[in-house]
Amino acid sequence: MRKKRLLWVIYPYYLVIALASLAAITWYDCAALQVFYKDRTREELLARAMLLEKRFLIELAAGNSERIDALCKELGKKGAMRITVVLPDGTVAGDSDESPKQMDNHADRPEIIAALANSSGNTERYSHTLHEARCYVAIPLHEGSKILGVLRTSVSVKSIESALNTIRFRIIAICAAMALMVAATSWWFLRRITRPLEVLRTGAERLAEGDLTYKLSVGDIQEFGALAESLNRMAAALDEKIRDLVSQGNERESILSSMAEGVLAVDAEERLLRVNEAAAKLLGIDAEQAAGRTLQEVVRNRELQRLVASVLSSHRPREDEIVLRGERGERYLQAQGTVLRDARQIRGALVILHEVTQLKKLEKVRRDFVANVSHELRTPVTSIKGFVETLLDGAMHNPEELPRFLQIVAVQTDRLNAIIEDLLTLSRIEQEEEKAEIALGQAAVRSVLETAVEVCRMKAAEKNVRLEMTCDAELTAAVNAPLLEQAVINLIDNAIKYSSPEQAVLVTAEPGDGEIAIRVRDRGCGIGREHLPRIFERFYRVDKARSRKLGGTGLGLAIVKHIAQAHGGRATVESTPGQGSTFTIHLPHPHPSLRSPKN
Ligand code: ADP
Repeated sequence: MRKKRLLWVIYPYYLVIALASLAAITWYDCAALQVFYKDRTREELLARAMLLEKRFLIELAAGNSERIDALCKELGKKGAMRITVVLPDGTVAGDSDESPKQMDNHADRPEIIAALANSSGNTERYSHTLHEARCYVAIPLHEGSKILGVLRTSVSVKSIESALNTIRFRIIAICAAMALMVAATSWWFLRRITRPLEVLRTGAERLAEGDLTYKLSVGDIQEFGALAESLNRMAAALDEKIRDLVSQGNERESILSSMAEGVLAVDAEERLLRVNEAAAKLLGIDAEQAAGRTLQEVVRNRELQRLVASVLSSHRPREDEIVLRGERGERYLQAQGTVLRDARQIRGALVILHEVTQLKKLEKVRRDFVANVSHELRTPVTSIKGFVETLLDGAMHNPEELPRFLQIVAVQTDRLNAIIEDLLTLSRIEQEEEKAEIALGQAAVRSVLETAVEVCRMKAAEKNVRLEMTCDAELTAAVNAPLLEQAVINLIDNAIKYSSPEQAVLVTAEPGDGEIAIRVRDRGCGIGREHLPRIFERFYRVDKARSRKLGGTGLGLAIVKHIAQAHGGRATVESTPGQGSTFTIHLPHPHPSLRSPKN
C-alpha cells in the first residue's frame, strides 16, 4: 500500500473540523438572527400599532370611514408599512395599500380573530390581497370594554428576508474569509511540524544508508531537537561500534589468511561459511566461489564430508586423517573438527586442516631405512654366524677349511664394517648439516680432485682402468675439502667398479652458469633410465648381487648427495646403458653468502 504523507493525513481532518465548526457557527448565527429579526419586526409592528391606536380610536368613534382609510394611506406611506383597520364584523374600514371596498371580509384572518378576542395577534402568512407573504400584528381598538375595531400593521416578509439575506451574506463572507485563513494558517502550522519530521526522515535514511558521519539538525522545536540529538548520538555510537567490528574483522581476517593451517567453517546445513587461503589451496578450491555452497558440492572428499557430518550430528570434536588424491599424487591432511557455536546456539562446524604429507613421507623414509639397514646388516651377520657355527661344529679342526672360512668371515666383517662406516658418515654429515656445522673455506678445486684421484689410483690400476683429470689450477670454491674429497672418491670408485678394463674414467671441474660442475665420467655399463630418479636413495642399487660382489654398500651415492647439499649444491646423473654415466656435483660459484669457515 502506498503510504501517505503525514501532512496529507492530518490536514484534511483538520480542515474538515475547522470548516464544519465554522459552518455550524454560521448556520446557528443565521438561524438566531432570523428569529431575532422577526421578533424585532413583530415588536416594532406592535409598537407602531400602539402608537397609532389613539388616532384611529378617535376616527372610529366618529365613524368616519373615509378619514380612517385616508389616515391608513398617509401613515402607511410614512411608516413604510401596511396599515389596515378592520371593524368588529370583519369589514375593512381602511387600508394603506388597497381600497377597502375591494377587500374581503377579514373576520377569518388569524391575527384579526386574536385581536377581537381582546389580545394582540400576530401571524406570518400569504396575503391574498397583495399576493405575497407578510408579517402581521393586530391589536384591538376598544373604547372602555367595547371593541370598536382592529388596527393591523404589517410588513412584507420579502423585505425582512432581503434584510436578513444582506446580513447572512456578510456573515457567510466573513466566515468564508475565516475558513480561508484557518486553511492557510493550519497548513502553515502543520508544515512547521511536518518539515522537521521530513528533515529527520531524510537524515535517518542517510544514516541507514551507512553515512554515519552525517549530522542531523532540525530547527528550534525542542522535542525534534532532542530527537535529532539522540539520533546523532546513536549514529556516533554505531559508527564507533562498526569501526571496532571492522578492525576486529580485519584482524581476524589477517590471522585467518596468514595461518599455515587450513580453516574451514560450515553452517548447520553444511554450507561453507568461511574458507581461508590455506584451506582453499590445500583443497584446490576457489574460496570466494565456494562461499554459500554446500561442502558436498565444493569438496569431493568423502572423509572430510563424513568428519563434518559426524561433528554436526554428535556435537563433539572429531579428528581424522584425510587423503587427497590429485594430479600431484596423494596428499595427507590431519583434520580436526569442532562444533562452531556463538553465544546462544550451535552454528555449524569448524575444521582445521594440517598438511602432514611431508611428515608421512619422512615416516615412510624412516621405516624403509630401518628395514633396509636391518636387511643389509642381516646378510653379513647371517653369513658370519653360519661360518662361525660351522667352524665350531668341527671345521676349525680342518686345516684346509679353517683359513678359507676365516677369510669369508673376515670379508663379511669388512662388509659389515663398511656399511656401519658409511651409515656413520651419512649420519654425521646430516647432523652437521642440520646444525650448520660444516665449515667451508676457499680452496683450489684441483687439489681436492688430485687427492681423490690419488686415493683411487691403486684401485684403478688393479682393474686396469685409466684415470684422467683436467681442472684449472686457478679454480677455487668454498668447500669442505675432506668431505668433497670423500664425495669425489665415491664417484670415482663407482666409475672404476662399473667400467671394464682399458676404459678411461675422466674427472673434470669447470665453472659454469653461477656454479662449478665437478664431473666424473665413465664409459662403463651405464644405468637404465627407470633407475635414475632413485639412484641417490640410500641402499638403492641397480643390480644388488653385482653391487655386493663389488663390495658396495648402496650408500655411496647417498653420501655424495648429502655432501653436495652440505655445500649448498646438488648432485645429478646422466647415463645411457652400455655407453657410460656422468655423475656431477654442482657447487655454487661464486657464493657470497657462504658460511664463513670455522678455524
Ligand atoms: P654401491 O655401494 O652399491 O656402489 P652407490 O650408492 O654408490 O652404492 O651406487 C648405487 C647404485 O648405483 C649401484 O649399486 C650401481 O648399481 C649404480 N651405480 C653407481 N655408480 C655407477 C656407475 N658409474 N655406473 C653404473 N652404475 C652405477
